[in-house]
Amino acid sequence: MTDANRSALRVHVRGVVQGVGFRPFVYRTARRHGLAGWVRNAPSGVEIYLEGPGDALAAFLDDLRGTPPPAARIVSVQTVPVPPEGAAGFTIDESRRRDSPTARISPDLAVCDACLEELFTPTDRRSRYPYINCTNCGPRHSIILGLPYDRPLTTMKDWEMCADCAREYDDPADRRFHAQPIACPACGPHYCFEADGVVRGRGEAAMTEAAAWLRAGRIIAIKGVGGYHLACDARSAKALRELRERKFRKEKPFALMARDLGCARDLVTLTAEGEALLTSPARPIVLAPARVDLPGVAPDNTDLGVMLPYAPLHYLLYAAGAPEVLVMTSANRSEEPIAYLDGDARERLGGIADAFLAGERPIARRVEDSVVRAGPAGPAILRRSRGYAPGAVAVLPAGRPILAVGADLKNTVTLVVDGAAFTSPHIGDLDHTATFAAFQETIRDLCAMYEVDVARLLVVGDLHPQYASTTYARELPGEHLEVQHHRAHVASVLAEREAWDVPVVGVAFDGTGYGDDGGIWGGEIFTGTLRGGLRRVGHLRPAALPGGDAAARFPVQAAAGFLAQVPNLPDLTRPPFNFPGRYHHALELVAKGVRTFPTTSMGRLFDTAAALVGFTREITFEGQAAIWLEHLARQAPPASSYPFPVEGDELDFRPLLHAVAEDRARGRDAGAIARAFHEAVAAGVARVCLRWGEETGARRVALSGGVFQNALLLTRVGEMLSAHGGLEVWVNQNVPTNDGGISLGQAAVAAVASGEPAGSHV
Ligand code: ZN
Ligand code: ZN
Ligand code: FE
Repeated sequence: MTDANRSALRVHVRGVVQGVGFRPFVYRTARRHGLAGWVRNAPSGVEIYLEGPGDALAAFLDDLRGTPPPAARIVSVQTVPVPPEGAAGFTIDESRRRDSPTARISPDLAVCDACLEELFTPTDRRSRYPYINCTNCGPRHSIILGLPYDRPLTTMKDWEMCADCAREYDDPADRRFHAQPIACPACGPHYCFEADGVVRGRGEAAMTEAAAWLRAGRIIAIKGVGGYHLACDARSAKALRELRERKFRKEKPFALMARDLGCARDLVTLTAEGEALLTSPARPIVLAPARVDLPGVAPDNTDLGVMLPYAPLHYLLYAAGAPEVLVMTSANRSEEPIAYLDGDARERLGGIADAFLAGERPIARRVEDSVVRAGPAGPAILRRSRGYAPGAVAVLPAGRPILAVGADLKNTVTLVVDGAAFTSPHIGDLDHTATFAAFQETIRDLCAMYEVDVARLLVVGDLHPQYASTTYARELPGEHLEVQHHRAHVASVLAEREAWDVPVVGVAFDGTGYGDDGGIWGGEIFTGTLRGGLRRVGHLRPAALPGGDAAARFPVQAAAGFLAQVPNLPDLTRPPFNFPGRYHHALELVAKGVRTFPTTSMGRLFDTAAALVGFTREITFEGQAAIWLEHLARQAPPASSYPFPVEGDELDFRPLLHAVAEDRARGRDAGAIARAFHEAVAAGVARVCLRWGEETGARRVALSGGVFQNALLLTRVGEMLSAHGGLEVWVNQNVPTNDGGISLGQAAVAAVASGEPAGSHV
């Protein structure tokens, strides 16, 4: 039977289309338009064969582009007309052979609108059920125990589906077709509310109790998607004080959860891009300028970190009357990894939380909330975890599997399989025993998930001989490579753009990294290409760093090393400076050359400026003084720059710091000084980019390193370079610009070098 009207198409869809409910969506759409054919995963996306009337095919393609599943991101749709085969019906090809490695483990997704609607429909059988999910939404990464991704290999294995759930699970036309964590109140896990070892509520009663305790200013440990949160009313000063005391967290900002978008808009000033990030299926914490003062939430900080509810549980808590703005912070003591196992949580959080709202579904691996910002150069990711990890962040020209172990601070690891670079969720600072254990666990987990033969690995670490990550890497089997920290920063930017042979000026500014010469680097300028090598052509003028690591905790101690080179300073022990005795002790170390190390750290230069402007106490979290200085500057009107000249291959800080000290002694406003300091650093960056761009012909600059988390600095550098024209600014997009991006950079250097002899230093 031939139908003149009948035609056929092969459609290839690329983008984020696997593991997000795409095939069932295609199935339902094709059926709705009366089309025959099939859909299957392909190594690079999804392939569809469609057959039917021409107008139905066109309508299908409109729907495909117009209303894909919420978590899907279509990059391209390619269609090729083919002769009709006379297919009958529409089928989903479930073959796992064709799944791309990316599809093996998808990120966890926020509950979708369709599930939310059911959640609050009293007649729905999943009404008020905190574990509601479908193929478009819900947990993935946090519940997978092994591959293939099937229910028996998830943390839902102990709950047998009821007949109703099984029917939905087996029906390709259903939104829950093969939704592995499918459950309902009749067959699935539940939540309980517990205080003092007594269960005070189960199911809906648990939500009501928890909400009441939160309203009463109590601290509740809440089991979420990838671990436990500690929650309290963000407007209760007493709860906040207690939380800080019990958690040993003095000043580091807490993240907030706002009941809905309207409530978030009252808390922070959001750009369109900021709102898009806030409401995206990844539901990260979004940093934005605060509109309200919530004492104790983010001291001395003009930004707040806000997220929206993402688990059905959060919506239920709000529906039960929880305060509309909650502190939602990772449940741990300061700096430890987030608690995610029930027994461990009870043990570690017992002294912190007044009560537990705990669900029965186990968490397979810890996944913390991600932190992002709508930055001057597009969205910037500051902590990459839930909603993003473990998706691939780049495609590298690697001929073999590579394991990059990152740096010791803000650690992540990256595994490269078939060229796809999978960066782990944020792990943390490896000097904590529990975090180091999490680091090892993550490596084992990634290698198992992607079935990597560890003996064939090319293992990459940092050049720093005392890094725990480096030591660990050296003991792994396989070939080894070590990559200098700041080259890895620059390489992480180039890797995201697949820029193997593009000449660049690379600027890596951060607190600390081990240099080629064994010095403490952190203000580095490179030229070259990723494949040809990045040559260090310039740097911050070296200063002394007295007392090693302690100098990173005490801005006045770092300041001594820089200020020792600046003549004619006012007396810094007197007002308005009031430097404590530690400063003079540090100056003595510098003068004698005792326990003093050379450094080119931009992070310490920021600390020095912060000390001169008034931050003379100990910091209580990494980067605190620099963040304080940035926020001071952001509140001040534009100011003209202090001098920060390039002399030879050095950025000379002496005239800069002299000007800062003079102005402060003269009584100039601290904000204005901070602003002029930022202006100077931005102009310094622009100057080195223009100079070395001209010398080498490079048209792109790659900026990376923790210092570039500074939004004001990045904005001004971008404006200055675009004013001078010709230079394109590249910054990190998929991985953090801080040390969370180091493992990707290491992997990229290793990938382009993987043809070269092993054991070499790059
Ligand atoms: Zn859903
Ligand atoms: Zn059920
Ligand atoms: Fe770094």
